[in-house]
Amino acid sequence: MSSTWIALGFLVAFAWILSLFLQKREQLRTETGRRDLEALSAMGDIVPASIHPLIDPLRCIGSGACVYACPEKSVLTVVNGRGVLTNPLGCIGHGACASACPVQAISLVFGTAKRGLELPEVDPDFQTNQPGIYIVGELGGMGLIRNAVSQGRQAADHIVAGDRRGAGESLDAVVVGAGPAGTSATLRLMEAGLRVLLLEREAFGGTITHYPRAKVVMTGALDFPMYGRVSKRKMSKEQLVTLWEDIRDKTGLQVAVGELVQHIERGPDDSWLVSSSGGVFKTANVLLALGRRGSPRKLDVPGEEQSKVVYRVIEPEAFQGQHVLVVGGGNAAVESAFALIDGGKCASVTISYRKNTFARCRQPNRKRIEAEIEGGRLTALLGTEIEEIFQDRVSLRNASREPISIDNDAVVVQVGGTAPTDLLQNVGIEIVTKYGEA
Ligand SMILES: Cc1cc2nc3c(=O)[nH]c(=O)nc-3n(C[C@H](O)[C@H](O)[C@H](O)COP(=O)(O)OP(=O)(O)OC[C@H]3O[C@@H](n4cnc5c(N)ncnc54)[C@H](O)[C@@H]3O)c2cc1C
Ligand code: SF4
Repeated sequence: MSSTWIALGFLVAFAWILSLFLQKREQLRTETGRRDLEALSAMGDIVPASIHPLIDPLRCIGSGACVYACPEKSVLTVVNGRGVLTNPLGCIGHGACASACPVQAISLVFGTAKRGLELPEVDPDFQTNQPGIYIVGELGGMGLIRNAVSQGRQAADHIVAGDRRGAGESLDAVVVGAGPAGTSATLRLMEAGLRVLLLEREAFGGTITHYPRAKVVMTGALDFPMYGRVSKRKMSKEQLVTLWEDIRDKTGLQVAVGELVQHIERGPDDSWLVSSSGGVFKTANVLLALGRRGSPRKLDVPGEEQSKVVYRVIEPEAFQGQHVLVVGGGNAAVESAFALIDGGKCASVTISYRKNTFARCRQPNRKRIEAEIEGGRLTALLGTEIEEIFQDRVSLRNASREPISIDNDAVVVQVGGTAPTDLLQNVGIEIVTKYGEA
């Protein structure tokens, strides 16, 4: 009898400790969420790049199901008993939150009520109002690798079934962007025997090549024309990059890397002329799979054309032993500076920002950058602008127009970018602006 009471006592004590632990955990999460919200309001109205959750506060019961369902983690938080999108830039549109909500308080939308998101209008076959020009993947607003692969294939199916074909020097199709959408579309066009050219400004694989190292990637099953089905739903970034290399090796897919498409215009005989950094290509169809990252904005200063100037840090080790200058003061710039401090073994890391504070950064980034400056691992040149980039140094000016010169081996420019929609508007593609709508 007494042993039963002891067991019962242990059970009650355990339940009590567990409930204290859960309460404490919830308090900490709410605190973090509140801080994230404060940091968010300091950054203005942030719009996620693609589809994202809109939570109805009147319906939400604060179950937290969305928080646990989101594979990206730290995107949603329960604050004051209501789910909140505390890290909009971390949301990549899985939509798992909406399916998990027990009271259907979440709808998936584009843009926000205050700040619209520009999206191209396409028909169910992904063709725009310009005959022969198609838009697939994230550029059309729908994120995720699985959607991009599927849309690329569907648009290519429509081209194959249609009668727009090149003749003589004109190609049947030019695909722009070698991410999941462009890769899948090109494979389908090759499979059908069409003459197709795949142009890519950066790296074969698209955005996946820019994921953080060892990132766990969640995808549905992927069906690649000419290659087959990939059923593994969870992969690391490195496995995904290897998959892309395997696709290229096994299918003989050719990709012209380093080709930035700058302009598209109508050509003769109902054709399109696609101008890239490598030439002008005449084609019957154009399939745009540009993603939504846009093109990095440049500084437009003398010396920027040198190969030591880059617009993104992919492998921090590549900067070993170098004096590196990061230009910019947003999250991307400060996170690049952290990557260089952590893994670059650089001779020095300096950040130049034209404003006097890092007010546009998320709070954890702001805290860390202040600590790095304080600890001497990072030099900040606030209120400065770049004047000229030389082979072994950079000259800057401060707010009082006084010159500053620093030793330099590499410059990382992260001062925002131009929207990919500019290219579309110039060719007359209809664009709609969505304000927090589906
Ligand atoms: C950090 C992060 C994590 C993610 N995690 C996941 C995940 O776990 N699961 C998932 O399914 N999705 C994830 N996504 C989303 C997924 O990566 C994208 O939805 C997908 O890559 C979109 O494919 P896409 O082919 O439309 O575009 P992208 O992959 O962006 O490819 C577009 C390509 O076009 C090229 N390009 C652009 N403009 C031009 C031009 N003018 N000329 C020539 N080339 C050009 C670009 O260089 C790029 O290579 C994540 C995204 C990010 C940023
Ligand atoms: S849409 Fe996706 S990434 Fe965004 S919060 Fe929901 S589950 Fe997370």
